[in-house]
Parts: sequence; C-alpha cells; structure tokens
Amino acid sequence: MMIRQAFRYELAPTAAQRVAFANHAGVARWAWNWGLSVRRKAWLRRGETMNAMALHRLLNRLKGTPRYRWLYEVSKCAPQEALRDLDRAYANYWRGRKAGRRVGLPRFKKRGRCPDRFRLTGVIRVEPGVVVLPRIGRVATKEPTGKFGGRVLSATCRREADRWYVALTVEVERPDPAPIIGPVVGVDRGITRFAVCSDGTQIASPRALERSLRKLRRRARAVSRKRPGSRNRAKAALALARCHRRIRNQRVDALHKATTTLAKSHGVIVVEDLHVAGMVRNRRLARAISDLGWAEFHRQLAYKTTWYGSRLLVAPRFYPSSKRCSGCGLVKAQLPLGVRVFCCQACGLVLDRDLNAARNLAWLGEGERVAGSSLETENAGGEGGAGLAGNGLVEPPSVKQERARIHGHALMDA
Ligand SMILES: [Zn+2]
Repeated sequence: MMIRQAFRYELAPTAAQRVAFANHAGVARWAWNWGLSVRRKAWLRRGETMNAMALHRLLNRLKGTPRYRWLYEVSKCAPQEALRDLDRAYANYWRGRKAGRRVGLPRFKKRGRCPDRFRLTGVIRVEPGVVVLPRIGRVATKEPTGKFGGRVLSATCRREADRWYVALTVEVERPDPAPIIGPVVGVDRGITRFAVCSDGTQIASPRALERSLRKLRRRARAVSRKRPGSRNRAKAALALARCHRRIRNQRVDALHKATTTLAKSHGVIVVEDLHVAGMVRNRRLARAISDLGWAEFHRQLAYKTTWYGSRLLVAPRFYPSSKRCSGCGLVKAQLPLGVRVFCCQACGLVLDRDLNAARNLAWLGEGERVAGSSLETENAGGEGGAGLAGNGLVEPPSVKQERARIHGHALMDA
C-alpha cells in the first residue's frame, strides 16, 4: 500500500541558514496575515471569497512593486503554502460549524506568539546527514538519515525554542501486513492514569512528565516576574520554551511506544469515541496535556493498526462503557465521576472503574468478532463518516475526519 509518512529530523543550520529560516518563517507569517486581512475585506466589502489562488495572483502583482521586493529573498513556496494553510483553516471553520463544533475563525499570527514555521515544496532531497531544501540549500541534520526512503512531497521547517526541525512528508510503499490473529483489547481513558487496557496493563503518563510539569510551572512564573522586553525575560522565555519542548518530546515518545506495542500485539483494539473521551474537561495542566495526548493516541493507533495488520474499532458514542458491569452486563443509571471503584449490586462485582470500562470495550470487540460489523472499523478504508451502527446508534465521524479537522491534512509519523 502507498502511505504518507513523515520523517522528522533536527537540523544543524549554519548561522546564515538560521537567518534564512527566520526570514522564511517571517514571510510565511506575513503572507498568512496579509491573506487573512485581504480575504476579510473582500468578504465584508464585496461579499467575495478569495481563495489561495486568487490571493496568490494578487501577491504576485505586489511582488513586482519596489515596496514588496523583499518577497524575492525567500522561496516562493513559503507565502504560497501559508495561503494554502489559510484556505484549510477556513475550510475547517466551515466544516466545524456544519457539524456543530466550535472551531474558531482563522486569526492573525503575532510574532513570537505563534511557532515559527514554513513549508516548502518542489525539489527536496535527502542525502546522508543532509536535507537539501529549495532556496536554502544543503542543511546538515543532527540525526542520521539512514532510514529515509520514498518520494518527498513537502518539507515543513519549524523552530522549537532554539532548535530547528524539518518534517518531510513522504510517499512510501509499504508491504501489506498479514492480519494479526491476537487477543481483543479494550482501552479506556483513565482519570488518574493515561489509559487502562482490559488485560489490566496501564499506560501511565511517564513519571518524567510529572517532574517536568513542576519545572514548567516554575519556569512560567520566572518569566512573568521579569520585566517585559528585558534580556532576562528573553532568557527566561527561552528556558520555558525548552521546557515545553522537553515535555512534548517525552509525551510523544511515550505515546509512540504505547501505540506501537498495542498495534503489534493485538488483533482488535477497541477504544472509546474521541468526543466522549474529551467531554471530561479539567483545568489542570497535566490533564490538559493528556487531552491533547488522547487525540494523538487515536490518530497513531489508526495508522499503526493498518501498518501492522491489526484493527482499530471505535465504540458507538452512547455506549455505556463506564456504567455497564463487565461481569453481568447490568447498566447503571448513573455513575458519578468521583466514584473510582465500580460495584455491581446484581452480581457483586467490585472492580476499578477504568478497568471495568476497558473490559466493556473489549467485550464489545469480542462480540464484533463473532457478530460482524456493528462497530466502525477505523482502518477498513477511506469512507468513514456517519453511518448507522448495527445496534441502531449513529456512528461518530471517524478519527480520520477528526484528524483532518485538527491537522488540516493527514500526516503520519515515522
Ligand atoms: Zn454485575
């Protein structure tokens, strides 16, 4: 099968290349803001929708005037791709509104507030230890590029604190896997742990993450105590950004390990619907990070199951995974969030709440194996969408669509 995969490398740019990177990111941000303002005006004054193509034509006319000569200093892809992103942001907004979700309108990007990033297309090559980018040239990577393969579609460069990374979107041919004949596992989102599997294993947030979070709070306070605009504030802000980067890396690493293990060792994985899982909102920092992680967990499982030959199933939205007794099947009328242990009045089962829910999900998957499709198979193909489940409940939109909503386009990580 042909898949899209992302290869991400940390770069070791020279001083001149750092300047070029910063210029490209600056132009990309400028183009986004310019496009947004032109588009808004066109809509307010003439009721006209200007898409990326129309904006790009206008931009090309501006480029000829002396005032905008500086646009020639960077690759033409940087503004072009920023305008395409703007199109996607608007499309997401409209799609979200249609589905009744609260997706914000695209906003202006403030320097220093939004990540420095830009995307390049065209001739992009990877040589041992080097990524060759249009206009910028040969940039050394800090990691070996030995595993790289496939045709590069685009390269997104992004600054995180004081480092630059490139993510290459690559088209790769991957052999179709043999289906895994393994056990069914239900995975429920835990409240104190990240997730609990029906076989009793837990996916904890890494301990290192907790430590880093304490550090993060301290660093954030340190920034706010420094005088705005001062050298010390800039230094504290960099330390804070580094801390954020470290946490992100730890989280991503832990998630990848967990999803790979799950997808490689189970035939069927059943998870809760993303919207149900996200309904429990909490303002705690660790929880907010775990919210992000849950969507990413779904996304990784969806593509890794196709890679390794297992299946990902999503329980119907109103499936009472927490309120059902995994022993006798009795469904409780209510179960407050604070109740950590599930006690069944009918059969006397006493079980950890999350483990009970995970077992219910697994039970659903077992039934699915026997009875045929009543659940949505995430990786059966591209159709996804809202269908009617066997038990009469409307299926939620697939993770794939969800992913498209969040990221603009589907991307998979190496
Ligand atoms: Zn029971």
